[in-house]
Amino acid sequence: MNPLASDAKSLGCLTPSPELLKQLMLQPLGSVPVRVCSGGNSSRCAGDGSWTVDLRRHRKVCYHENSREIEFGTGLTMAELLQVLRASDRSIPIGLSGLTGSGFILTGGMGPLSRSQGLALDSITAIDGIWGSGEPFALSEHQTAEDVCRWRALMGASPFLAIVTRLRLRTQRLQPLQVRHGLIPPSQLSELIQIAESWPETCSLQWSWGKRLEIYAVDCSSDKPISRKLKELDPILGRDQHAAIQHCKDQLEQPTFGSLASQAVASRPVHSEVLARLGPALKHEAGPLMELLSCRMQERPHGECRISAQQLGGATMRIKRESSSFVHRDSMWKPWITAAWNPGDRSGRQQSLEWMNQVSADLSTTCPGVHLAQLHDHLPGHQRELVDAFGDWLPELRQLKSALDPEGRLPPL
Ligand SMILES: Cc1cc2nc3c(=O)[nH]c(=O)nc-3n(C[C@H](O)[C@H](O)[C@H](O)COP(=O)(O)OP(=O)(O)OC[C@H]3O[C@@H](n4cnc5c(N)ncnc54)[C@H](O)[C@@H]3O)c2cc1C
Repeated sequence: MNPLASDAKSLGCLTPSPELLKQLMLQPLGSVPVRVCSGGNSSRCAGDGSWTVDLRRHRKVCYHENSREIEFGTGLTMAELLQVLRASDRSIPIGLSGLTGSGFILTGGMGPLSRSQGLALDSITAIDGIWGSGEPFALSEHQTAEDVCRWRALMGASPFLAIVTRLRLRTQRLQPLQVRHGLIPPSQLSELIQIAESWPETCSLQWSWGKRLEIYAVDCSSDKPISRKLKELDPILGRDQHAAIQHCKDQLEQPTFGSLASQAVASRPVHSEVLARLGPALKHEAGPLMELLSCRMQERPHGECRISAQQLGGATMRIKRESSSFVHRDSMWKPWITAAWNPGDRSGRQQSLEWMNQVSADLSTTCPGVHLAQLHDHLPGHQRELVDAFGDWLPELRQLKSALDPEGRLPPL
């Protein structure tokens, strides 16, 4: 579980079965909003003075051969879903870790295959759950006219409106991957970003800048034994011993992202918050932006503070903006900022959050959108983040919130 959430002085953890969840949501809970925990990776799956509804008992899973869809309870992790699908040679596009839960799908999570296969939420064909009001719902992508708005709201904004208990997703043919990760000098990052912006959509670049700068390039085209695009990184990666091309049978075999960028000695768990932005191709703006980030990296208040990014585009851009709450469909980059501090260090927390906000402000010109993969309803910037995440769709989302969660049992919008 996320260390900050795990150390929270929570009122307790409720683990209702699917049948009991509805009754639970109709009870007066004493303290609202409730927190919802699926994979437990975000800082807000538990909070001081809040109840947590833990979905880890919602674990039914079934692969439908005829439709090639997977239907599952929202207590399963992405790795568990991939394990089930492996047997049928199928998969779904997950992120950089198999540990994430349904929060990854519902908040518009993306991964190295998203440029060719879309966001995880673009594969959703059916969704069941309970609105904040306690009313159950079951919607499918072929909704009636009156459900169109509700469907759109659930695709990327469901944490504010509902507890989702079951999802059905289209699957894709199992895809082998070639991964190349290694360390580069920061001065080469802007050049690499511009190279990646011209890659075919079967390739993607991820990077993580901590003590060192790690790059993580993935190619999922299976037509060449050795990826030409990854081979072209030779001059940038030099003789880095980690940087050999790795062949992975599927996403379950992806090497760990971010491990090369961190401190040499594994330290004790730190507390952290993460803020993610979204923006289009950087082109010639990559150079000045990376210079600015380089200055910010020198000012970071804790060794585990980082700036990272992953690449979108291709399939994620082809989806109509109006079809989901993930409105930044022109995005090619999701940079995210990790603010870290030692547990209990209040001034360290404050400094790190200020640093995160400063970096976010630096990025906001080139990356105006926000990806709400972590809720920050306990931080002063929450309202601004909502505006940057949902843009002109936010007023309608708020109307839906007042109808579907009138007592504010779920996080504020
Ligand atoms: C190691 C690691 C790797 C990651 N890699 C990526 C990546 O490659 N790409 C990317 O986009 N993100 C990535 N993330 C971010 C991650 O996807 C988000 O933090 C996501 O919200 C985590 O979902 P969860 O279910 O695991 O966590 P949780 O903390 O359980 O859930 C996150 C939020 O979603 C809400 N939520 C969860 N389940 C439900 C539900 N069933 N109904 C309603 N609301 C719900 C909760 O309110 C909670 O605030 C990564 C995070 C980690 C820790």
